This record gives sequence, structure tokens and C-alpha cells, in this order.
Amino acid sequence: MSTRDFIEKDYYAALGVPQDADAAAIKKAYRQLARELHPDKNPGNAETEARFKEVSEAYDVLSDPKRRAEYDEARRLFGAGGAGARAGFPGGFPGGAGGGQPFDLGDLFGAAGGGRPGAGGLGDLFGGLFGGGGGAGSARARSQAASGPARGQDVETEATLSFDEAVLGVTVPLRMQSPGTCPTCHGSGARPGTSPHTCPVCQGAGVTSRSQGAFAFSEPCRNCRGTGQVVDDPCPTCAGNGVTTQTRTITVRIPAGVQDGQRIRLAGKGAPGRRGGPAGDLFVVVHVSGHELFARKGNDLTLTVPITFAEAALGTTLTVPTLDGNVSLKVPAGTASGQTLRVRGRGVSAKGRAGDLLVTVEVAVPKRLSPAAEEAIKVLDAELGDPRPRITAAVQSGGAR
Ligand SMILES: [Zn+2]
Ligand SMILES: [Zn+2]
Repeated sequence: MSTRDFIEKDYYAALGVPQDADAAAIKKAYRQLARELHPDKNPGNAETEARFKEVSEAYDVLSDPKRRAEYDEARRLFGAGGAGARAGFPGGFPGGAGGGQPFDLGDLFGAAGGGRPGAGGLGDLFGGLFGGGGGAGSARARSQAASGPARGQDVETEATLSFDEAVLGVTVPLRMQSPGTCPTCHGSGARPGTSPHTCPVCQGAGVTSRSQGAFAFSEPCRNCRGTGQVVDDPCPTCAGNGVTTQTRTITVRIPAGVQDGQRIRLAGKGAPGRRGGPAGDLFVVVHVSGHELFARKGNDLTLTVPITFAEAALGTTLTVPTLDGNVSLKVPAGTASGQTLRVRGRGVSAKGRAGDLLVTVEVAVPKRLSPAAEEAIKVLDAELGDPRPRITAAVQSGGAR
């Protein structure tokens, strides 16, 4: 039985008893449930089997005064199980938010910054809470969600990068709005100087019991929305929700080689988790501006360089720009217009593999010629002769066959 179990599991709710129930009441509730849920009585019923295990586990802890005291203490310290604040989380879980204690956003980001690869959604969360039992009723699921740790929401934002920034990678500040613990009441929902008090309906358990046929169901207390606490004098900042929309600026590293329209996932940089849950993920949709000279083809950079007829014919060594300094490029004698020459490793460096710089040379044809240039070109043309002898031969025989 780990501390994590203690924080995540609501043993009082499992037995359908209030938090201040005495030993006799706990024993009575357990016996009743154990009789109803016993596998001998419900052969092959996965749902009652899971409930039976849950109830047994709860009774193991709550029937032992020493372990019950440890359990109560763990929940008190970590703000689980109805000790937390009253809050409805906009767009989040039904039920509560806020751990009843202030937390530092920086700490949370730091702690979660290492990433939660493949962090799942609600399904994973519930799976974790129920130990994979999966058979619990939905009312109970809500009750657990209201009191257990909750993963922060995923947040999506946009960033516009210059061409160079996208190629080379960049660190950008992003302003984001997301729900966070109210700074005025630290999530309790109560006006500063006042405190929430224990819900009189459920005695702070956050759940009430309801009988239906042979079964006793626990469901979230309607009076306190499953939090176990009620607020008389709500916090003026958050109107008693314990949560406000907060603008924060975070610095994120956009990796080298991102493409226009790409969606980058930054694990653990989304909204902070609640009651010790992990932070959500941040998704950044990247917009990349065009470049005056370069374009991209995957991880290759492309560049078009005009050359003169003389350079194409005689060969030359060009100096061409890259995004990181200049490079020399040898153009062999007799290079055709439109030919592409490759400069290895001078493209986009993404995930350790560098693309190439693809230089396409185009023979520049002047639109206007001086009389001297015109004369010189006529002389050259006569010297060079027919550039298309096969075509000429085909034409002379009356067409190609
Ligand atoms: Zn507040
Ligand atoms: Zn209540």
C-alpha cells in the first residue's frame, strides 16, 4: 500500500461511509458490501469482483487504527479525498479542482518538464485510479475523479518563425492563457480570512450512499459537488471556483528543422495538474515565413543561382550563401542551364541528420544587348555551329518516324 494509493484511492467512498465513521460503522458497511459482492455469489461478474477487491482493500486499511491514521494523514497532507477545495473546473472534470494548498507553477513545470511520454487522457487516468479493474460504476468514477489527482489540460498555441529560426531552431517566449489555481484564495474558493467548512450533507466524505436493490451505490455529494467542503463567502477573484484564467509566459525551445504548419508537442508544458497530478502537454502550431533566397524541400535547402553563358561553358567556382556562412561551389565546364548541384550537409539539420543545399544554376540570358555584345555573340554563334544536329537531320528527312 503506497502513499500514492493513499492519495488516489478513496477508501471511505469505497465503503460508502463518512470520514468520521466509527469502527463499528465501517465494519457493518464492509460486511454488508462483502456479502453482496462476494465472488461466490456473483460468479463470472467482473464488475462485482473489482468492487469486491476495492471494498476489501478499503476495509484492510480502515479497520486497522494505525493504518487508518496514516491514511487520513496522507490525505490531509496531500489534499486528497474531500480535504481539498470546492471548485468547478471550466472544461475539465465535473467536480473539484484545487488541492486546498498553494502550489508553485514553476515547481510543477519543473517537475513535469522531463516529459510524460505518451501521457494518456481520461481513460489512462481512470485506469490508474482503479488499478485496471475497470468495473466500477460511473457514479463512483466521478467521485474518484473529483478527489484524485488530475492531469492538467493540454493547451494549443501558435508561433510564427522566420525561415532561419525554423531551420536552425530557436527559443521563443509564448504567452498562454490557461486555468490555474486562484492566487487570491490558493484554490480554496473561500474569501481570504474565511475558510470552507465541512459539507453537512456528506460530513466531508464527498460521497453519499444510495441503495438500489441489493446494491449500495456511492455517488458524489450534490451539495458540495463531491469535494466534501462548502464555501459560504466565496473568493471575489474566482467567484468560489478556486480556479482562474491566468496568462503566463513560458519559454520553449523549438527544435531545428520544423516545417510550416507542423504541430509540435512539448510534454508537460500545458496547464498545471491539479492535486499533484501531472501537467498537460503544450502543442505549438508553427508558421514559417518564406525566405528571399532559399526554399525548403524536406530537409534540403534549395537555391537558384543565375550564371553567365561563359561560366556555364568554361566552368567556374561560385561563392554561394547558406543560412550559416558562405560555401564555394565548383561549376564544371559544360554545365547545362537548370542543372542542380549538391552541397552536402549544408541544408536543414533536423534530429542530428543534416540535409543538403541544392543549388540550381540557370544561365542568364540578357534581355537587351549593346551593339558590341550583339556583334560578339554573332561571331560566337557562327563559331559554335548547330546545337541540335539530330533535330536538324529529322527535319531534313521530313519528320521523325
Ligand atoms: Zn479565489
Ligand atoms: Zn457534501
